[in-house]
Amino acid sequence: MNIRILGCYGSDALLQRATGPYTCNTCGFLLNGTLLLDAGTVATKLSLNEQKQIRHIILSHLHFDHIKGLPMLADNLSEQIDASIVVAGLPEVIQGLRRHIFNTDVYPDFFSIPTPERPAFTSSYLKPGSICSFSGVDITPIPVNHTVPTTGFIVQDRSSAFVYSGDTYSTDELWHEARQIPHLTTAFIECSYPNSMRELARISKHLTPALLAQEFRKLDRDDISLYAYHLKPAYKDEILRELRELHLPGLEVLEEDQTLTI
Ligand SMILES: [Zn+2]
Ligand SMILES: [Zn+2]
Repeated sequence: MNIRILGCYGSDALLQRATGPYTCNTCGFLLNGTLLLDAGTVATKLSLNEQKQIRHIILSHLHFDHIKGLPMLADNLSEQIDASIVVAGLPEVIQGLRRHIFNTDVYPDFFSIPTPERPAFTSSYLKPGSICSFSGVDITPIPVNHTVPTTGFIVQDRSSAFVYSGDTYSTDELWHEARQIPHLTTAFIECSYPNSMRELARISKHLTPALLAQEFRKLDRDDISLYAYHLKPAYKDEILRELRELHLPGLEVLEEDQTLTI
């Protein structure tokens, strides 16, 4: 499986580094060029031709940092594509998207235009625990512990599999299901705040480095590449230091504009 990281942070920011300016963008992972996992960053990182290849979009939840690429993608493509793009998520996510974003006030209803017969987007409801196949990849949504209805995902094809935490606080079912998959190679676990902000992490239902280590232990596997992602850019340096101090084998911090082959 080919995973292109369009964005992997918990907010957008332009950071200054010794090597020059450095951008952080919210989460969007493009699988095999056709399946988008979360839609925080899309159109600013893909050519129009690359955008046209997207057939399915899977959303972990409705929070703005995970959906904000959708309106511009629809705007770019609505007159350009032969078939609607399928947007899949929990019913609460799809209904919320239509009610709060594509409601003709905030943005046009791209679930009905340019024509009701061939809109830019069509919707598909995901059922927790049920496998759905999109673009040749099997997706299992598993509910996780966030402030709104949210799923993490187990994503697999015949040769490899990965687990994506979505936004979550301490959770169990996702790790329980993932650790039973023999060809699981990779885990993406969110890590939004430094340990000093554990109370905000608890209230907003996100992880810190200490909590990430606790969640990773639940996977109980020593053959997994672990990537921390969804760092809030304002605390990046502190989070990086604390992640290094964990000395977890195989732990890396995910960076955007990289492509992973698993
Ligand atoms: Zn988020
Ligand atoms: Zn969230």
